Amino acid sequence: MEVVEVVKKEVRMHQNYRHHTGLDRLFRYAEFLNYGDVHVKFDPTTGLRAIVAIHNLKRGPAIGGCRLIHYNSTDDALEDALRLGYMMSYKAAISNLNHGGAKAVLIKPKIIKDRKAYFEAFADFVHELGGRYITAVDSGTNEKDMDIIAARTPFVTCTTASGTGGDPSPQTALGVRRGIEAAVKFKLGRDTLEDVHVAIQGAGHVGYYLAKELKERGAKLTICDVNQLNLQRIVDEFGAEVCSPENIYSVSADVFAPCALGAVLNLHTIKKLKVSIVAGSANNQLAHYQHGALMQELGILYAPDFVINAGGLIYVAAVYDHADTKAAFKQVEDIYFTLTEIFERAKQEGRATNEVAEKIALERLR
Ligand code: NAD
Repeated sequence: MEVVEVVKKEVRMHQNYRHHTGLDRLFRYAEFLNYGDVHVKFDPTTGLRAIVAIHNLKRGPAIGGCRLIHYNSTDDALEDALRLGYMMSYKAAISNLNHGGAKAVLIKPKIIKDRKAYFEAFADFVHELGGRYITAVDSGTNEKDMDIIAARTPFVTCTTASGTGGDPSPQTALGVRRGIEAAVKFKLGRDTLEDVHVAIQGAGHVGYYLAKELKERGAKLTICDVNQLNLQRIVDEFGAEVCSPENIYSVSADVFAPCALGAVLNLHTIKKLKVSIVAGSANNQLAHYQHGALMQELGILYAPDFVINAGGLIYVAAVYDHADTKAAFKQVEDIYFTLTEIFERAKQEGRATNEVAEKIALERLR
């Protein structure tokens, strides 16, 4: 059977749980992802609707960001929490951290009347979990929110007081740049990023710092975003060329760097790609893990998301554990070698890079 047919079949099988709703869907999906525990909290006073998905605690207390965004349904929010928490376990394991993986999803209400009270309610929820889950910033939350949480529980990081600042995006971008260097060396045989063309999807926190890292090394940049302000900042500061969000997949470049949304690599978008490498920061880039095999079949080198985007987590964990942050920076730089090993193993074994990376992480989770 052609790879595309295998992918279609597996995607259909995998999405069977979507025929179910509510707790039925939760249990089916949790079983599929081999979940530990999932907690929910509703606070009528502040409008807090929170889900904390703790995937695995075998390596230590679970650490993972707290996301505050709109969802079309509670089922979508649950799925997001489960997918992200699972990926955090793999990310911590592949990075050899003594932490498990988890994620908090806060379903954004139309208005948050009192942000302080809202995050205090979330802090109490985190505290009730007794340290099994350590929270951090993610989409829609910031260091000041973490400060509110820190006033009520110690199980939080990324506050304004932590280390060199609460935002882990610079460290994430550093790791992504090192990952791009590894992929460029492996696939294109080039030792530097001079004149390497990178198409970046997303000009947010990581997109900005990544553009800076790449520009400083002589790369050529094309960028897209739906937010004009974010976009313009990168154009002004780094002279990036702009492309529409719809056309970013078909930019003829060396590298496509997804730094915005999850599930952007699917049958529809992969067919459009005109790059040799996909390497970016977004979590859960593959709509389905078989899309990794599809890219391999098409000769596109894919840097598995949970390996290349681990820089922020490595740094945040070091700050939380009061470990040596200089050593953490070195570990972020070493993402280059972790990825090179994965690329080599994938080539030798004729398997997709994401499959190899997941296998290594799973061995460490056991
Ligand atoms: P962010 O919210 O600051 O930036 C995301 C950007 O993507 C925004 O500017 C947004 O306008 C843009 N965007 C949204 N939809 C888009 C579309 N359709 N096309 C183009 N752009 C679009 O988030 P971030 O912190 O920069 O993180 C980016 C990605 O990296 C996310 O998937 C996040 O989960 C992942 N990630 C971030 C970190 C970190 O340290 N911040 C760590 C690991 C993984």
